[in-house]
Amino acid sequence: MGYKKPSFIENIAEKLGIIPNLHKEGYQEFDGDMRQFSDEEVAQLYENFPPPEKWDNWVEYNPKVWPKKEKKTYQIIPTTCFNCESACGLTAFIDKETQEVKKFEGNPFHPGSRGRNCAKGPASINQVTDPDRILFPLKRKGKRGDGEWERVSWDDALDTIAARIRKAILEDRHNEIAYHVGRPGNEKFMNWILQGWGIDGHNSHTNICSSGARFGYNLWYGYDRPSPDHAEAKFILLISAHLESGHYFNPHAQRIIEGKMKGAKLATMDPRLSNTASMSDYWLPSYPGTEAAVLLAMALIILEEGLYNRDYLENWTNWREYLQARHSDKEISFENYIAAMIDEYKEFTPEYAEKESGVKAEMIIEIAHKIGEAGERFASHNWRAAGASNLGGWAVARCLHFLTVLTGAVGAKGGTSPNSWNKFKPTQPNPPAPQKKWNELHFPKEYPLAFFEMSQLLPHFLKEGRGKMDVYFSRVFNPVWTYPDGFTWMEMFSDESKFGLHAALTPTWNETAFYADFVLPMGLASERHDLNSYATHGGTWVAFRQPVLREAARRNGNPVKLTYEANPGEVWEEDEFFIELSWRIDPDGSMGIRKTFESPYRPGEKITIDEYYQYIFERIKGLNEVAKADGFTGQFAALEYMKKYGAYEIEKGESYKMNENLLSEEQLKGTKVDPKNDVISKKGKPIGVMVNGKPCVGFPTPSRKNEFYSQTMVDWKWPEYATPTYIKSHIHNDVLDKSKGEYVLVPTFRLPTLIHSRSGNAKWLVEISNRNPIWMHPDDAKKWDFQTGDLVKLNTDIGYFIDKVWVTQSMKPGVVACSHHIGRWRRPQDKTGNRWATNTVNIEGDGKGGWKMNTISGIKPFESSDKDSKRIFWKDGGVHQNITHAVHPDPISGMHTWHQRVRIEKPGKEEKYGDIFVDTNKSHEIYKEWLAMTRPAPGPNGERRPLWFNRAFKPDESVYYIDKKEE
Ligand code: SF4
Repeated sequence: MGYKKPSFIENIAEKLGIIPNLHKEGYQEFDGDMRQFSDEEVAQLYENFPPPEKWDNWVEYNPKVWPKKEKKTYQIIPTTCFNCESACGLTAFIDKETQEVKKFEGNPFHPGSRGRNCAKGPASINQVTDPDRILFPLKRKGKRGDGEWERVSWDDALDTIAARIRKAILEDRHNEIAYHVGRPGNEKFMNWILQGWGIDGHNSHTNICSSGARFGYNLWYGYDRPSPDHAEAKFILLISAHLESGHYFNPHAQRIIEGKMKGAKLATMDPRLSNTASMSDYWLPSYPGTEAAVLLAMALIILEEGLYNRDYLENWTNWREYLQARHSDKEISFENYIAAMIDEYKEFTPEYAEKESGVKAEMIIEIAHKIGEAGERFASHNWRAAGASNLGGWAVARCLHFLTVLTGAVGAKGGTSPNSWNKFKPTQPNPPAPQKKWNELHFPKEYPLAFFEMSQLLPHFLKEGRGKMDVYFSRVFNPVWTYPDGFTWMEMFSDESKFGLHAALTPTWNETAFYADFVLPMGLASERHDLNSYATHGGTWVAFRQPVLREAARRNGNPVKLTYEANPGEVWEEDEFFIELSWRIDPDGSMGIRKTFESPYRPGEKITIDEYYQYIFERIKGLNEVAKADGFTGQFAALEYMKKYGAYEIEKGESYKMNENLLSEEQLKGTKVDPKNDVISKKGKPIGVMVNGKPCVGFPTPSRKNEFYSQTMVDWKWPEYATPTYIKSHIHNDVLDKSKGEYVLVPTFRLPTLIHSRSGNAKWLVEISNRNPIWMHPDDAKKWDFQTGDLVKLNTDIGYFIDKVWVTQSMKPGVVACSHHIGRWRRPQDKTGNRWATNTVNIEGDGKGGWKMNTISGIKPFESSDKDSKRIFWKDGGVHQNITHAVHPDPISGMHTWHQRVRIEKPGKEEKYGDIFVDTNKSHEIYKEWLAMTRPAPGPNGERRPLWFNRAFKPDESVYYIDKKEE
């Protein structure tokens, strides 16, 4: 199966060892013959990495003076990449002479990335050495947003901010303090801080990112993300460009390729021929928003042809509940369950799916058969993409997971596990109790099922007077630029009655930091502490991001007390900043805050950063023993091990089918089994389920099984979505008026070398990608008489932007696309920052909600300490598209639905490339239109939100109930 005869050239190349021998017997066979890499082969992959015993004194020739042979001696210290959530391992090469970081390479000891990185990992060196980086804390002078700054000390900043937070807490204004995160990083650290302060103050970017797909997965099995076991799969289906971008994409990409090398087939559903689609065996260019129809058609084929996994469906789905609720006239039998599902999805024929999506019926049938054949070894993934783009986008992930359930691939080897099975959770010192506050600015009643904070609506909530932010931290977060409707953010940031004090914690200038009161420089990958653990494969690991110059100083006998003493300038890190801030909020301990941040080893004293991590590491299974075996002894042995290797593998990949784990005798004491559904409960809470006479842990859902039928959706007023459904998107073909030039714009993809809003300080990355034209199929270009490079005006619901056309066959006809992460800007009055990537723009408001932006100049060479800044050859910094998008929150998941209905036209004679217009009154009207689509809380028993749903920074259960007065 899957064997392809080698060509003559391949034969020779394989024999000479120029390429690996992919044709030796058994290489492409599945199951018993499936090729595994031996330990020796894996070791060979790593042989070019410097061995760790030489890391303190590693000698290489200096490539810059080649062919001269000049030796350079480095100290190599591991850390993790900060340029996407994958947190791949890096090793920093520190010049022993100058004590400067000279380059970054991969860390072979990191179990997720295994020494490999994408382009953005090594480009961390650009960010460290960027001549425009912020090196000292700054405070604004003059009016907010005017661009005037003065240098202040860390003490000044800490004292000012701490006094304001202290006052707010003492006056019971807890909900006026918020920490809003763009790039998260440190496992549970901010829970520890914010819950230590007793506030419901966490806000995140997740509702413009992944909460749609999370909601779809959560409804099924109580976990909100998939962890596909790509390397062991037989068939892989991606609804994204996941080989090149997206969460955990580098660790996943290398395992997808491993899977493919063993013979797995790969299918990609995407209206764009992405690099991922071009590497796939099947490309399904679906019309945006119709993905669920295609998936349900596949489900119907699997059901009708009996390709499903009967045991799994019978044991691990809540089919009896479904039949009782929906087919009470029928006998409760498994056969009736299958028949009812076939009846429920009968309209989703391959022909119907083709009509909706444009994907050929034959291809849908072929892939359904492949998935059925793969059985448990079916791996799939939806993170953002369709799940983050459409009204009802969450239903795409739900329908994708339906296929995983039908094949029994949930948690199977080569299948798709819940992410939490492959993720480490730290045990922190002095854990604070959950907060007894509920912040309606984050989780308002209108969106009781919203999977994360309604962050995209914050400026609208403030605009209509729902509250204020007295102290607001933006953390590596740039909503003015990244979010839809950035002008409304600017209006609110400029108003001190809405945002009292805004502290931007950021390693680099950004459009949001221009509207801060304090700009506080935070460290990059090699300049900070963080703990990382992600579901990259069927194993569990923990990695340690560390300030490498601080660690080098310690090893060289010059320890420092605080990280900013070793970093460039006075660049600090959030960990120490927040511990210090917490002590200043509650200096004498009378508010009960300080106790969380006291040393677990030295009672009453401030915890140090080493103590915080040692406390966590010494509690990780097996780490103390491994550290000892490596020669580390003493109180900080586990920490020393992590400082040396940067990562530790806790579980090697046997965490499959964990739902079948049995409850212990201890756990079973005092439990009851519900005769209706076999759910095992303790003190009124479900903790397991009887399956085939065994007390299994199950899944964290009310039924402890995969919920094909969701009573939760019925209880929370959405009965029409009780089972997996196709929801027609807000950009469905039926709602577009083609005669008026209306198209769907896909704005959700990124060029693989870019980092949200942080590539601007990475010259190598900007050199590779620096434009974001409109992708247009030749048929559409012909219709409009457009050539590549022509200007095009895209009118959105609230304004327009003018971009250039790129005519390409890589786009589905009838759809246009524009990558995000490009179109960065600064105004003439702003501090120079990110000059590798920013246009200089003029912004003008008419005082009545109308805003215009136009480009004064593009990117130009500049004088700096980096000679490359004079060699800049690119001029075009692209166009800022997101600012012209209105907020479109899905009324159920809360996810911003990124796809836009746009009206295409040719710009007028006076209109120029990069021109933008937005009317914020209109954007507020559209916010209200979408708000009217919601079905607000309370739910059953006066709940604000289903108790079984996870929530970031979960508060105390007592605040889950809406007061009668509040209703
Ligand atoms: S995938 Fe690339 S950007 Fe993301 S952590 Fe890994 S090396 Fe860094």
